[in-house]
Amino acid sequence: GLILITHDLGVVADVADKIAVMYAGRIVETAPVHELYASPAHPYTKGLLDSIPRLDQKGQELYAIKGLPPNLLRIPPGCAFNPRCPRAQDICRGEVPELFQVTEDDGTEQPGRGSACFFWKETLHGSRS
Ligand code: SF4
Repeated sequence: GLILITHDLGVVADVADKIAVMYAGRIVETAPVHELYASPAHPYTKGLLDSIPRLDQKGQELYAIKGLPPNLLRIPPGCAFNPRCPRAQDICRGEVPELFQVTEDDGTEQPGRGSACFFWKETLHGSRS
């Protein structure tokens, strides 16, 4: 087995079977590699994937996640990603989301898939559009 730690999701796609995405020292999404690329269930993962340059979007402005990673000595209360998250709502500023099991629309468990986001369903469905 091999554990690869990188900021480059493009590299991961070629060598990994499973991915755990971390933010501020915590796992925020886990998934088999192809499922994560096809339909991320956490806004941070979606932002990372949207930031990868694509040949079919040549000439368009590259997406960037707003803001900067937090100081690890002063992690924001609630979800650590909330100051940078386009989906953040009041609950995100007050509660830390657990790593929720990601399921299909009919409730079928997606093996190995988890998301530490209160709005993983909305993110998952938004990523498919
Ligand atoms: S819990 Fe809230 S702030 Fe955190 S990633 Fe999800 S929507 Fe964004």
